[in-house]
This record gives sequence, C-alpha cells and structure tokens, in this order.
Amino acid sequence: MRATPPIPASAGTSTPASSDLEARIREYGEKILGLMDAAGPPSLFSKKGFYGSLMEWAMRDEHFKTQLFRFVDVLPSLTSSGEIARHLREYLGDEQLKLSPALRVGLKAAGGASWLLGAGVKSQITGMARQFMLGDDEKEIAATLRKLHEQDIAFTVDILGEAVVSEDEAEQYAARYLALIEGLARQVAQWEPPCQSNISPRGQLPALNVSVKLSALHSQIQPSDPDTAMGKILERLRPLLRRAKELGAFVNFDMESYALKDLTVRSFKTIFSEAEFAEQPACGLALQAYLKDSEADLRGIIAWAREHEHRVCIRLVKGAYWDYETVISQQRHWPVPVFSQKPETDANFERLSVVLLENEDAVDAAFGTHNVRSIAHVLAQADRLGIAPRSFEFQMLYGMADPLKAAVLESGCRLREYCPVGELLPGMAYLVRRLLENTSNEGFLANKFGKGAGREELLRAPRENLAAGERRPIGKDSERSATPSGRVMRFQNEAHTDFRLAAEREKVRTALAGVRRQLGRRYPLIINNDQVSTPEWLPSLNPANQDEVVGHAAQARLAEAEAALAAARSAQPKWGAAPADDRAKLLEHVAELMRRDKATLSALEILEAGKNWPEADADVAEAIDFCNFYAAVMRNLARPERTQAVAGESNFQQWWPRGTGIIIAPWNFPLAILTGMTAAAIVTGNAVIMKPSDQTPVIGARLMELLMEAGLPPGVVNLLTGPGSVVGSHLVAHPQIDFIAFTGSKEVGLKIWEAAGRTAPGQANLKKVVCEMGGKNCVIVDSDADLDEAVAGCIASAFGYQGQKCSALSRLVVLADNYDKFLERLVAAAASLPVGPAEVPGKVLGPVINREAEQRIRGIIEAGKSEARLAWQGAVPDDPKACYVSPAIFTDVPPNSRLFREEIFGPVLAVSKAKDFDEALTLANTSEFALTGGCYSRSPANIERAKAELVCGNLYINRNVTGAIVQRQPFGGFKMSGGGTKAGGVEYLQNFLVPRVVTENVLRRGFAPEEAEW
Ligand SMILES: Cc1cc2nc3c(=O)[nH]c(=O)nc-3n(C[C@H](O)[C@H](O)[C@H](O)COP(=O)(O)OP(=O)(O)OC[C@H]3O[C@@H](n4cnc5c(N)ncnc54)[C@H](O)[C@@H]3O)c2cc1C
Repeated sequence: MRATPPIPASAGTSTPASSDLEARIREYGEKILGLMDAAGPPSLFSKKGFYGSLMEWAMRDEHFKTQLFRFVDVLPSLTSSGEIARHLREYLGDEQLKLSPALRVGLKAAGGASWLLGAGVKSQITGMARQFMLGDDEKEIAATLRKLHEQDIAFTVDILGEAVVSEDEAEQYAARYLALIEGLARQVAQWEPPCQSNISPRGQLPALNVSVKLSALHSQIQPSDPDTAMGKILERLRPLLRRAKELGAFVNFDMESYALKDLTVRSFKTIFSEAEFAEQPACGLALQAYLKDSEADLRGIIAWAREHEHRVCIRLVKGAYWDYETVISQQRHWPVPVFSQKPETDANFERLSVVLLENEDAVDAAFGTHNVRSIAHVLAQADRLGIAPRSFEFQMLYGMADPLKAAVLESGCRLREYCPVGELLPGMAYLVRRLLENTSNEGFLANKFGKGAGREELLRAPRENLAAGERRPIGKDSERSATPSGRVMRFQNEAHTDFRLAAEREKVRTALAGVRRQLGRRYPLIINNDQVSTPEWLPSLNPANQDEVVGHAAQARLAEAEAALAAARSAQPKWGAAPADDRAKLLEHVAELMRRDKATLSALEILEAGKNWPEADADVAEAIDFCNFYAAVMRNLARPERTQAVAGESNFQQWWPRGTGIIIAPWNFPLAILTGMTAAAIVTGNAVIMKPSDQTPVIGARLMELLMEAGLPPGVVNLLTGPGSVVGSHLVAHPQIDFIAFTGSKEVGLKIWEAAGRTAPGQANLKKVVCEMGGKNCVIVDSDADLDEAVAGCIASAFGYQGQKCSALSRLVVLADNYDKFLERLVAAAASLPVGPAEVPGKVLGPVINREAEQRIRGIIEAGKSEARLAWQGAVPDDPKACYVSPAIFTDVPPNSRLFREEIFGPVLAVSKAKDFDEALTLANTSEFALTGGCYSRSPANIERAKAELVCGNLYINRNVTGAIVQRQPFGGFKMSGGGTKAGGVEYLQNFLVPRVVTENVLRRGFAPEEAEW
C-alpha cells in the first residue's frame, strides 16, 4: 500500500503563500463566468414566464417560498382541479395569490374559475418538474440521454422513488433498476461515436452509468443491526451488479442521510471486495464535504482502493440534506455531523478536492458541483499538480445551471449529467430539493442568478467568507424554558443512544451478558432501607423465554404493607422539611447513576419487559429526564411566589407536600413511569410506598437500589412488590394514605378512583388521585397525506413495543381517496417488520408481556374476525416458550364493534374508511378515551380543524403518536384516559403538593417597608 501524500498547507486557503494559486483560481473563475454570462441565465432564473417569476418571488419572500414549496410537495397527490385550487388558496391565501405575478397570470388566464386555475397550475408545476426529471417513458428517457450524448455530455441515471416502506417495495425498486439497465444498455450500445466526456486519458468509461440509493433496497434498516441491513442490501445488489457487469455498465452509490453513511461506505467496500465484483462492474461512491468526518472517509476509501488495487470513482459533493441533518441531530441531542457555516463546507470541498487529485493514480475523481469557485479551484489545483483536466470529470444535475455546463464543456473539461427518471409523484420531493437549492440564500446559483452577485463575491476564497461572516452556532447545549410563572428553568433531555455506533451496540451486548449472569436472584422488599424477605416469592419471566427467570420478587402481605406505611409516615416530616434543593440534588444523583448504568438498565428491560433495544434505551432516557426535569421544576416551586403586588401587604403562594402516598406503576414503561411518579412524589417532600408491576419487579428493585445508592434517607421510598389486589387495594383505601399515583388499566384506575373517594373514619386528608389510564387512540389519514410518512408513522405507532403502549395507535381512519393505496402499503410494511426476541438487535416486533396477555389478545383477534374483515395477520416464530401474538390489521371495522371501542394493548389495528374529513373527525372522536391522537394531512385547513376538534390529550400532526419527550410533550389524557394530569410537564408536581397563600400586613403604624420586602 502506498502512503497518501500530505495535503499542502496552502490547500484550499487564501494565505499569502497561496496567492499564486488564488490568482489562478480567479483566472479560471473569470473565464467560466465570462462564458456563462455570454450564454444568459438558466430558464429557472430568466425572470420571464411562470418559473422565473415564481423563483424571483420566492427568493424575495421567505414565507411565500415555504408555502409555495409545501404546495408543490402536495400537488401530485391532488386528483381534482377543485382540490388543487383549495390547497393553493389554503397555502398562499387570496392576498398572496393576487400578489405573486406568476400566480396572478394564472388567475387571469383562468378567468377566476377555481377549477381552471387548479388545472393550469398543475400543468405549470408539472412542466417545472419536467425541467429536472426525465419522466418514466423509456423512449423519452433514451431520447433525452441520446441528446446529451450527442452534445458530448455523459450521464448517470437515477430512479426517483417513494420512500421504501416494505420489502415488496424494495424488491420492486431493485427490479426497476434491472429493467432500466437492460433497456438502456440496448439503446446505448447503438450510439456511436463514443461521448467525449466518457473518454479519459486512462481509457474509455462505460457509456451506461447508473446511480443507486441503498435505502431503497431494504425497508428495515435498523441502526442497532447494521449487519442484517447490509446483508439484505447486498443480496438485492448482487443480481444488479451481475447484470451491470455483463452489460458493461457503471454503478454508483449515491450518498443519503448521515444515518446511512457508514452503512453505505461499508456496503461499498464489502461488495466490491467480493471476488465476483473485484474488477467489474466499474463503480463509484458519492461523499459529502459538508460532513465533518468526510476526510476520514475519503482517505479510508482511497486506502481501500490502493489495497485492493481497485480503481473506483469518487463523486465529491457538498451534500443535499443539510437542513435535515441539523434539525434531526438537534432534536435528538446528538452531535451535529455537518459544518454549520457554508464557507466551512466550501473549504472542506476544496481540501477534499486536493486529496482526490493527489490520489488520482488510485481513484477517479468526479466533482459534483454547480459552484464556479469550487470548479475553478479544482482546475487550478490540477494545474499545480500537473494533472490533465480530462483526467477527472465534473458532474451536474439535469436541468440545473445550463450555462455553467456549456462553459465547463467549452473549457475542455469532461461533464456528466445526473438524470433522475421516474414518475412525477415520487419525484416531487426531488423537485422541492432542487427548488430549495436554487433559491437558498447560501447557494451559489441563487447568488449568481437570483441576486446578481458580482465576480469578486462569487470567486472569493471560502476562508475569507468565513472570516467575514458571522459564526452561527447550531445546537444549543441546554434548553431553557419559562415556567408558567415566567421563571426560567434549565433542563436538557437525555439523548437516546446512537446505535449506529459500534461501541454503543457493544455496550448493550456486554450488559445483556452481565444481566444474564445475575438471573434468578431474589429481590426482597425494602422498608426503611432494610431488606425484608417474605415467605412467598414470585418469579418474573422473560416474555421471549418463559423458562428464563429474570428474578424472584418477595410478595408483600398486609403486615409488610402496614410496616412500609409506618416507615413512610415517620420519615416524611423530616424529608418534607428538608431544603428542596437537597431533594432535587438526590434526583439528579439518581439520574447520574442511571446514566452510568444505562446499558445495564436497558438490558434488564430487554429481558424482563421484552422491549427491543431502542425502546428500552428510550425508557431509560425518559427515567433520567424525569429525575432531572422534576428537580429543576421543584427548585422553581420552592421559591414562594408573589400573587399580587399591593402596597402594605405581602401575599405569597407556597407549596406543602401532601404527606404519604402510594405509587402504582405499570410494566410497559417499567423504569420511566415508576421513576417519574416516584420522583415527582419525593422531590415535592412526600414519602411513598413504591409498587412496581408484578411483571417487572426486578426493574423496580434496581430503581430502589439506585435511590439508596444516591443517598435516599430511610423510609422516604419503600419498595413493596406483591399482589396489587391485596397490598395495593389495602393501601389505596388506607386512611393514612394521602395520595395515590397510578398508571395502568381503566378497570383498575376506576376502582382506585372510587376507593380513594371514600373517606374512612380518622382520615386526615382528602385523597388526591393522579390517575393515568388507557387509550383507544386514533389517527386520521387525509386524502392528501404524504403516504411515505403516514405508513411509516402508523406502523411505528401501532406496532412499536407490540402495541403495548397507552399511547399506541389502535384505530386508523383513512379518507376514501387514499384508502386502497394506503392500506396496500400499510399491510406490506407491517409484513416486513422483523419479528423475534427483543434481545436480538434489529428485531422490531417481539412477544407480548406474558401468557395471560397472549391468550387475551389472541381471543380478541379471533372474536374480531366476526366483527370486521381481517386484512392481514403476520407470522411469528413458532416458539412455545415465547408469548408471541400474530399481529393483525382489521378493515371495515364498524364503530360500535369491540375492535373499534375497547383498548386491546397489543399488536392489533382497526382501520375504517371515511368519505370526508367531517366523517373522519366524527369517527375519531367516537371513543370514551382521550389520550393520544394524530392526523396526517397536507391541507392547512384540515390540520387546523384536527387541532381544534380532535378530542385527545396529546395530538400529533404528521408524525407518529408515541414517544412523548419530557417537557417537550407533557403526556396524559382525559375522559376515561385519566384525570388530565400531564406527566413530564411543569404543572405535574403540583399534584403532589397543596398550595398555601400567606398574607402579611406589613404596614405598622402607617409605616411600610421598601417594596422589595412585601
Ligand atoms: C451530479 C451530482 C450528484 C449529486 N449527488 C449527491 C449525493 O449522492 N448525495 C448528496 O447528498 N448530494 C448530492 N448532490 C447534491 C450536492 O450535495 C449539493 O447539494 C448541490 O450540488 C449544491 O452544491 P454546489 O456546490 O452546487 O452549490 P453551493 O451553493 O456552493 O453549495 C450548497 C451546499 O452547501 C452546503 N451548505 C449550505 N448551507 C450550509 C451551512 N450553513 N453550513 C454548511 N454547509 C452548508 C450544502 O451542502 C449545500 O447543498 C449531487 C449533486 C450533483 C451535482
């Protein structure tokens, strides 16, 4: 292997040492810009006609741009002119329609008739899309490519597609590629003479060149299991590469989002190391300069190419998903993988260009850019290194920057166009990306053609732009928010683990082995921080293997319940009088310990609750959030708050703990909910009896250990495991219990509510019940919904953790226009979910919690067959030791059926059809529950109606309905779903407190102190 030459210090900079280079860049740049100016602006920027004026308007008015592009995005799904006109008005409003010159022309032409306007606009936008895409007619595609060929422009063809949500769709995508290669190979073979852009000093390149997106070859890419994903992708790639090899075609791997980057690079190296593909077909890979780790990737590929003596092509681009990457990483609290400043990306592009050129003996370089400065820099560096300009190629997108293409060709360079083919509907996302790129404030094309920037500015070195510009940091390190009283609070959510990282996956694997070594341990009760054993021990079983005992939990009797209550009552006064800050610190310490043990806690949940890796990890993260968030909220509440300023009198509200309570938690979020309710109760100064679910007592015992390790004083939390019907009922009714925090079924919740309402003789307080019960949650899929998103979101909401979440989707109401297409994709997507034990990474659907649940859900599915049509039932492993239930989707579900009304808490989804949005809302609101709800729609008016009319505690628009994040989405419902309390919200702690107002007359003998003292 040859060593890689170092990059000269001056590369990509404009220091005095590189002034010669800068001068050369200027020279090339001026020349290209001169040639471009002679050619005139590209049609998109011509300022004439429909597109030109739309673009001009969009660049002037950010709001108009957003609305316009959203309209473009929804347009292909609109089937009637009336619908188009309605959406146009909803997005742009009458004012905007009148103001925009292009739309004004459209309105005028339509004579004000909305249906005519609709049809006109659709055909205009379709024409706009055609500027960037070749359509899906094979003959038309071949004809367009041939034209390019005749202009000596090489091409690469990419098939645009919907997001692949099922394995059927992935198969179809692979088949379309195969057909495309076959069809085009026949045509291209007849084109003589060869296109000059395909002739490099090293020889002739394949005339047929295709670009592939790996995400389209497998629908179930799970970050926790990249190996399976790669296996499936390579399986589908092999026939394609085999055919490409036979036909002499070139295959390029496009680069998509950062989440897929490592998988793409690894798949590339793996498959092209296989003996069969070690030499043919010719291949390439795109790398994105906006990524901070792109240089390491580039050097890695070059080293691989040298080692395998496999000459590959690297297409260097800046990267097309900048907004997405910054938004997603900020939402997840992950490091932002892209540079935050545009000139940083430009500078990195220049640095990497040099790396590529310096290694041109090992790899072919392709520069995918429409930026004249970037192109001029490549040419100047090639000069410096003595590399002939035809040794590398420039690549540009079909329909973009035509004058630049002409200038590059005229400058004697090789040029390839990236040509997307396919139907208009799936292509809209691509069109929107191109429109954004053309109008981006930061973009070269918009600066040159839209804003008319001068040559000086356009050719300035990135470093100079960076120095001149303001540094805009992306990603804040803490979230600050105001409480209702206006006080500022600091809190940051715990990041979910990034399982793309091998080290993180290894941690869970090691933790699983560690937890396994401790299986079968006995977990006594804890009263006053002392262990208490009882005669009876209940085994807790792994849902995926009922022979595996995770642990044995002591079963409390009434005597232990009384002892625990006495311990709590005696500890509470001192604990309640302790400074709130001390109590807050205890929770923060617990959060720290949970973070330390994150992988072990996840592993325990995987084995005891049957949660898959990401679900278990999210539960632990939520538990950490509850501790930190309630600590922060308590610090604010602890400061008495003035109710009103009035002269001579001080009026302050303050809070007192309620006293002693019982926490009754469910198994489905075994750590988070138990921690959340307990943390809220104790940080507010109460003492509690903590009763975890019978299904997950070991996790409860682990929480107790962590509380004690953090320094919990004896008696403040007492762990009681045991039968809810005995211990729980006894304590709920106990006169010395002041509050009950319960999360669980409606059946038990209502009993608690009733029992707590009865006042026993000698009872000091009215009991407060914090009660979170179930849901029968509904999502509406509107006729204009983005089906890629709706299918993926509904699958995750209905089948995540086997549907065993109170927030889970269980009723889907789909508008008639979308019904058949949506249902077909939904069923195919459900059928693609990987099923298996939660501990196997990458499995999405596992067994349900226990035998009883399994039998119950199976019974409901059987009975459901006589109520509705069973549209699909999935296969599950035939494992008698595991509690699998075959997931089911029912259609034609009548609103009065059990399937439509009753909470199932399992992987069962009821689908109904609605003729219009009114009917959809009526159906959705036909429920005694009101927990979560959702709506997928791209109609601004219908989204507003959903916001106003859907009856639920947590409403999610255009996203899945599960996975509430502490503080961001305070969680809880009303009606038969609960008492309207919001876990993870700033008001939640008030449920565990009683408010007091202290008024003091500060006027003494007519003398009032300074205002600050009242
Ligand atoms: C032939 C071809 C193939 C392509 N293939 C791919 C591919 O496989 N994968 C892919 O992701 N993209 C691909 N692209 C798109 C490419 O990544 C760019 O989005 C596009 O070409 C714009 O870059 P530019 O150099 O032409 O324009 P410029 O205007 O110079 O650069 C715009 C780019 O700068 C970056 N940027 C914008 N704002 C910021 C900021 N605040 N901080 C940091 N960086 C910022 C973004 O990457 C943005 O696209 C391809 C482009 C071409 C021409």
